[in-house]
Amino acid sequence: MTAARTAGASRTTRQRTAISQYLAEAKDFRTAQQIFDHLRSLGHAVSLPTVYRTLTRLADAAEIDQLRLAGGETAYRHCATTAHHHHLVCRHCHTAVEVAGDAIEQWAQSVADQHGFTDVDHAIELYGLCQECARR
Ligand SMILES: [Zn+2]
Ligand SMILES: [Zn+2]
Ligand SMILES: [Zn+2]
Repeated sequence: MTAARTAGASRTTRQRTAISQYLAEAKDFRTAQQIFDHLRSLGHAVSLPTVYRTLTRLADAAEIDQLRLAGGETAYRHCATTAHHHHLVCRHCHTAVEVAGDAIEQWAQSVADQHGFTDVDHAIELYGLCQECARR
């Protein structure tokens, strides 16, 4: 780390890397607030809007997945695969399992075909209680 580095660009890159790493290590979905708290605890001088902007960029680049939690809040996760998939999410602890949904893919395709729609996308997540949480 040298003084010659331009603070602006390197800070953005550092924050993006920190967010990416944090989500890669997490096994569950995290909210922007949780990510923000984590970055602050590491000493990053980051603002919540910056965290949101970075998360949106990572999601647009398909580097992370996002989904809407029951309360309307958006949560983020670095998934093991970049291929299209769905999630089985614990509504209590936000633990997530990545699942394929062949029946859903076929259904979506046939419904789109029936109505003459092309370039159809979908986001379907399953919410429930994981084994750990159900035991409590
Ligand atoms: Zn995923
Ligand atoms: Zn759980
Ligand atoms: Zn699907």
